Amino acid sequence: MKIAKIEVFPVRLPMKAVLTLPRGPSRTLDEGKRVALVKMTDDDGHVGWGESGPSRRWSAETLESCVTSLREYLAPAVIGHDLFDLAGLHARMNRELAVGLDPGQPIAKCAIDLAAHDLIGKRLGITVQSWLGAKRADSVPLARLVSAADPEEAVRITQAALAEGYRGFKVKVGHHKALDAQIVQAVAQAAPGAFVWADANQGYTLEEAIRMARAFERCGVTLFEQPVPMSDVYAMKKLLSATPLTIALDEAAMGLPFVIDLIRREAVEGLAIKVSKVGGLHYARQMCDLALNAGLALIGSNLMDAPITFAASVHLFAAYGMTLPADLNGPQFIAEDYLAEPLPIRGQVAYVPTAPGLGVVVDESKVRRFTLPPA
Ligand SMILES: [Mg+2]
Repeated sequence: MKIAKIEVFPVRLPMKAVLTLPRGPSRTLDEGKRVALVKMTDDDGHVGWGESGPSRRWSAETLESCVTSLREYLAPAVIGHDLFDLAGLHARMNRELAVGLDPGQPIAKCAIDLAAHDLIGKRLGITVQSWLGAKRADSVPLARLVSAADPEEAVRITQAALAEGYRGFKVKVGHHKALDAQIVQAVAQAAPGAFVWADANQGYTLEEAIRMARAFERCGVTLFEQPVPMSDVYAMKKLLSATPLTIALDEAAMGLPFVIDLIRREAVEGLAIKVSKVGGLHYARQMCDLALNAGLALIGSNLMDAPITFAASVHLFAAYGMTLPADLNGPQFIAEDYLAEPLPIRGQVAYVPTAPGLGVVVDESKVRRFTLPPA
């Protein structure tokens, strides 16, 4: 079975709210969630779907770069390739767009990877979780992302989310530094018994991170995500010895070679796993295997993923038994999408889709409605 055809649809999904990171809003409401949607057809006419969902203020890729890379370089490189040779598929993509400290435009490559996994599952009549060969869980609890300007707003968001069924809270810190400790404390106090962690998106210096870690410890928080810049291995290592909090790396953990280097340097004890930042499921599962074998903690994460990447993440996180609430916040921000049926989410728990492949059905009339006009 060979890959016969790849079509790329640049789409804009309407959003309900914007997310603010230390460097500012992740995108504008007008910009929406922009996705390069990929439809892969094999030589028997079967179809798989994948997505590139860049977050341009998180990493350097954009919708435009993903569409160009997919159409001009990645799709031509994999046409005619054996669908079941995923390692060879990535080798072909990596020959066209070279791997550096990150996997080389991983978000663009993710769309091809997800479409191939979806198609493999459909051809075999099994779910992607079955393809991954592990059923440690059949669902993933979802975390509510809290990005608040002050403690009062944080309490309002937390109380509303508790009423909606959330029992996990990821608090964005690093942008209102003077109030960060109070904001995290407000969430922890408003949600006793819930799992609360802080994500600074590289927003602190080492000194600030140590001070904040002490404050978070006093709130009962146990996990602190990417406190310091991704290139500052010295600070990552110093911070580990300065606090009993688990320090999970996100922006620093985009590629396997650098994660292996961090393990060798004893500078990492937890990873935030995002399917898209590593180039799709093929490398994400390797990172999960590496982490489990090295004794690292895993936390599920995303880039405001659109529904296909969301489904892929649920298959992966459940396969690897990632039972802490996962930051899969697409449904929190994306108002409408192109699925025929909504994702299986009940009571803020996402269930592994049971249909073959990624288990989601794309409604092509909705795709046409959301497709952006040519520039
Ligand atoms: Mg993060």
